[in-house]
Amino acid sequence: MKRIVFLDRDGVINKNPVYLDYIRKPSQFKFLPGAEKAIRLLTEAGFDIYVVSNQSGVEKGLFTRQDLKAINDKMIKAVEASGGRILKSYYCTHLTVQNCSCKKPKTAFIKKAIGKRRVDRKNSYFIGDTERDIIAGKRAGLRAIAVLSGYTKKKDIRGWKAKPDFIAKNLLKAVKEIIV
Ligand SMILES: [Mg+2]
Ligand SMILES: [Zn+2]
Repeated sequence: MKRIVFLDRDGVINKNPVYLDYIRKPSQFKFLPGAEKAIRLLTEAGFDIYVVSNQSGVEKGLFTRQDLKAINDKMIKAVEASGGRILKSYYCTHLTVQNCSCKKPKTAFIKKAIGKRRVDRKNSYFIGDTERDIIAGKRAGLRAIAVLSGYTKKKDIRGWKAKPDFIAKNLLKAVKEIIV
């Protein structure tokens, strides 16, 4: 059965923007320490890797789909240069009021990525830095890991509606827990 890791982008792979702002252009995209290595290790361990990210700044007019694509291309290229592979990135560009089915904590993108494949959900993960990542992962029947490299502090997690299966300092530490 396939094992999959879904990654949130901002605060997991790259440094978060200033609170409530967005990564608007490629030059603002900076990898977090160890993130590229973590993706390489997951790739080598045989996981399929997808990015699932909310980017409503597009619908707000703060940046364009082309900007988003340029940022994604930069990320994908750097990941591949370091020996990792992200199969596909899914971006929800909608506003909450549009009530789409793809904005996390909704799970449309997770379901789309899985498709009709049989997935080893006990050994598949959603890794994110916010409550809605953890809710999305648990709703999809995956293990969920909260990383502390983004907006969340450890004490914040106590108040969350969905509890992560575990908490890791960053993506690399999370991956080292997964790959045993
Ligand atoms: Mg995030
Ligand atoms: Zn959406």
